[in-house]
Order: sequence, then C-alpha cells, then structure tokens
Amino acid sequence: MIGGYAGATDTGRKRRRNEDAYVVAPPLFAVADGMGGAQAGEVASKLAAAALEDTDSGSLAGPAKVTSLIQEANRRVHERANTDPATSGMGTTMTVALVEGETVTIGHVGDSRAYLVRDGKLEQITEDHSLVNELLKSGKLSREEAETHPQRSVITRAVGTDPDVDVDAFTLEAQQGDVFLICSDGLTDMVDDEDILDLVERHRGDLDRVTRSLVAAANRGGGEDNITVVAFAIADAGDTAPMPRSHADDDTLAGHPAVDTMVVPPEQIDEVLLDDSQAEAAPVRREPISPAARVRLVLTMLALLGLAAVLLVWGLLR
Ligand code: MN
Repeated sequence: MIGGYAGATDTGRKRRRNEDAYVVAPPLFAVADGMGGAQAGEVASKLAAAALEDTDSGSLAGPAKVTSLIQEANRRVHERANTDPATSGMGTTMTVALVEGETVTIGHVGDSRAYLVRDGKLEQITEDHSLVNELLKSGKLSREEAETHPQRSVITRAVGTDPDVDVDAFTLEAQQGDVFLICSDGLTDMVDDEDILDLVERHRGDLDRVTRSLVAAANRGGGEDNITVVAFAIADAGDTAPMPRSHADDDTLAGHPAVDTMVVPPEQIDEVLLDDSQAEAAPVRREPISPAARVRLVLTMLALLGLAAVLLVWGLLR
C-alpha cells in the first residue's frame, strides 16, 4: 500500500515559464515535461496530465492500463496540436506510476525518469528515450560526455507528436520502505545521484520535505530548466503510519497550482535552506515564544518598572 506521497514543481532560475506538469492522484502518479514554441509546451504537459486523471481505463490493470492511459494522453495532445495552429508540433514526456497492492507499474515516453530508492541505493528504473542515451548505448559517447552534451535534451519519443506512440511499461514488486521518485530532467541534470539519494534518505519520513529539498538542490545547482519531483513510499499493509499530508482532495495538477505545491523562487532559496537546517537542529515541537523574544519581553517589563519607579520618586520629591 501507499505510505505517503508528495509533489513539487518550480520554474527554476533561467526559464520564464513552467512547462512541466505533475499528477499526484493515488494510486496514480506522473510527471510530464512539455515542449513546443510559445506556450505550447505548457499546453501539452497539462493536457497529458489532465488526460491521466479523467480517463476511465475500465477493467484494465498493470502495464495495459498505464499504456492505455498514456496513449489516450497522446491522442488528446496530438488532436489539439492538429487543430490549434498555435500548438502545432507540441509534445511532452510522460512518466507514470500506478500502485496496485504490492506491485508498481511504470510506463514512460521521453526522458522524465523514475527512480527507486531501496536498501540505501538509488536506482534509475526507466531508460531515457533520448538522443544522448542512444549514443551512450551504442558506445559513441561516454557517461561524462553525455552529461554535458549540448543536445542532451533531445528526446527520441514524445507524447503528442504523432498519431500513435510506443510506451515502455513494466511492473515491479514493491517492498515496504521503497521510495519511488518521478522527476523531470530539470532535477537530474542539476543534481547528481549521490545527492538525490542523500536528500531522500535524510527526509524519507516526510516526502513533502523530500520533494521540496530536491527542488531547492536543483536551483542551487543552477536551476537551468523547470524542476518537477513526485515521490511516493510503499508501506506495509498493516502499517498504520499516517500519510504525511493528504493530496486526495486537491486537483493535483500543476497549472491549477495545488495548495501544497512548494514553489521556491530563486531569491528565497537561501531562506528555504536555512529553514531546513534550523528545523533539523530544533526539537520537533516549536516553542510558542522564542528565547530571544522572551528576553526582549523581560527587558521591556524591567524598563517599564524602572520608568514607573523614577516617576514615583520624582512625584514624591516635588
Ligand atoms: Mn525539462
């Protein structure tokens, strides 16, 4: 069963618009990273995300269900691109996770990745449909070259650019304690695996914190692209641990910003980071009044008492 979940998205520090979208609608989770001129990228990712949420896939389950959801998203984005000249040629990546009991099905198109954190290790479980990954697989590029390749954002498959799309879908047996991440390349281009793992492990009890700290790390790393992270954890069926905070009744779509979507503008990054470290050092419960405020209060009262005494003496002496 699902033990907790969260999602966060941010424009980053270089882009003017956020063309990413995400879905946090348990048992369904997804990230879409749109592309296209003007505002078309935003239209594509939001249409695809909305399609996921309101498509009834009937009695389908597992890979068949996830594939059919992504294909429906493909139909909708493609149809819009064909009828609205302003969005011609638009497309989006789409990476979806569906939790059914003890199994997690992943389906994806493009280079938004899914990761599994298990037993202290971070494993990328999707294979990017990207030019750079093709070059890497055929031995034409080294991993180091791939990381800085000027065309590393070129994808080889997208949702919406063609009438049909090939979806990679597979199922994993989940284990208690697993944390799954789905993220756009704005995270993975800016933060290395070691740091992603470190932040997940450090805050794993609070997935909201996980997603926010990953977004902050990507901004610290340059924030060159939109950054989106969705996280969910697997708990034991008998586990009564409460969910960190329910997203169940928001619409969970980026674009209709969810109340708990944490956006971190560049100028507030240091604040967020500061807050992070303070929160860690501080006890779980916050005092209603800080020690500094208490000292100020006592000093103010002493000053008032002193003033009253002076006035009293002055009054008596007159
Ligand atoms: Mn991107």
